[in-house]
Amino acid sequence: MATHPTIGESLRQEGYRLTPQRMMILAIIRDSSDHISAEEIHQKVRQQYPFVNISTVYRTLNLLKKLRLISETDLGEGYVRYELLERGRHHHLVCRRCGESFAFEHELLRPLQLRLLKEYGFTADVDHFAIFGLCQRCRPAEEMNDVRKEGQHGAA
Ligand SMILES: [Zn+2]
Ligand SMILES: [Zn+2]
Repeated sequence: MATHPTIGESLRQEGYRLTPQRMMILAIIRDSSDHISAEEIHQKVRQQYPFVNISTVYRTLNLLKKLRLISETDLGEGYVRYELLERGRHHHLVCRRCGESFAFEHELLRPLQLRLLKEYGFTADVDHFAIFGLCQRCRPAEEMNDVRKEGQHGAA
């Protein structure tokens, strides 16, 4: 897409320098086939720059996030994962029982975004969501549990 400014251009427009480390972190996120954690990014950066510490990685990630070049999502693992925002927008359903995650399309959240704008005058950054719940496989097991609990309750 030639009409979009490149990432380097966006950074420069905002007055940030495109340092080799920033470039490298962006490239790592771009080249990873899946969402990547700061820890994983750090490991890869260190292969080339052994003295870069993780707080530098976090600072860069925060900058890239502020520029809306990347998005972060908590997929329920206790840390966030990063992804390029320009890559197809999608969101996740995460099962709180088995931890499985499923991507779903952005279109489903468009009506929410439009209503927030209309009713609250609020432009929501609906970049990369994770919604927690129960997957198809785990739902029956959980429902059984609920029934059992209710049974105990009834007996007491
Ligand atoms: Zn994602
Ligand atoms: Zn599940």
